[in-house]
Amino acid sequence: MSEDSKEAQRHEMVRRQVQRRGVEDESVLEALRTVPREAFVPESYRGRAYGDSPLPIGEGQTISQPYIVALMADLADLEPDDRVLEIGAGSGYGAAVLGQIAGQVFSVERIPELVERARETIDSLGYDNVEIVEGDGTLGLQEESPFDAIIVTASGPEIPETYRRQLAIGGSIVMPTGARDGGQRLVVCTRTGEEEWKTRDEGFVRFVPLIGEEGWSEGRETGASRPGADEPGF
Ligand code: SAM
Repeated sequence: MSEDSKEAQRHEMVRRQVQRRGVEDESVLEALRTVPREAFVPESYRGRAYGDSPLPIGEGQTISQPYIVALMADLADLEPDDRVLEIGAGSGYGAAVLGQIAGQVFSVERIPELVERARETIDSLGYDNVEIVEGDGTLGLQEESPFDAIIVTASGPEIPETYRRQLAIGGSIVMPTGARDGGQRLVVCTRTGEEEWKTRDEGFVRFVPLIGEEGWSEGRETGASRPGADEPGF
């Protein structure tokens, strides 16, 4: 497939899957028109790279549906100079999209095989403002904090206190919270003062679990490898 045709597919993806569902921020739309999603999915799924769904990326994990990547970036309300923390790098696609919108992105991933692949993809595309960090993302990334936004691409029982503390005043956390199985609420938590946070609910979603010290325990990752596992419920 030619580069022109892939670019045309990305434009179509943005029109049909993202704009139609109400995401309007031009910097978010342009980022999704630019980042080649096919580079982040296993070879056998490349033909479906611009489809309206998550796809398996190995290790029981998924690359998020393009719309959900756009929605979370939109809710984070990013500015060009922002420093962003993503938790759950997976394939690295979400981090690459965020890197087109913000100044610097750190993305933490707990599975070493995914870290290696995401780094290779990000490096091969020359996205030098995106760093993939291996570790337990439930602890955030203290040494690089504060962040203007923290985007969590796996679901936890609640927003860890650590994220609230690593957020700059005025910044927001976007995170699916709630039950481990069966769906969660997408929550936006904005730090409005030194000791003040305001939280709002942005609807039903379904994500793979956030596994770690301040998340769920390992060993019961039901649904994690199922395509559709992080589809929004609408
Ligand atoms: N943003 C990714 C992309 O664009 O491909 C999709 C992420 S996938 C839905 C969720 C990811 O969160 C998985 O790769 C999983 O291994 C990771 N994850 C789960 N718990 C984590 C933790 N405590 N720290 C870091 N990553 C974690």
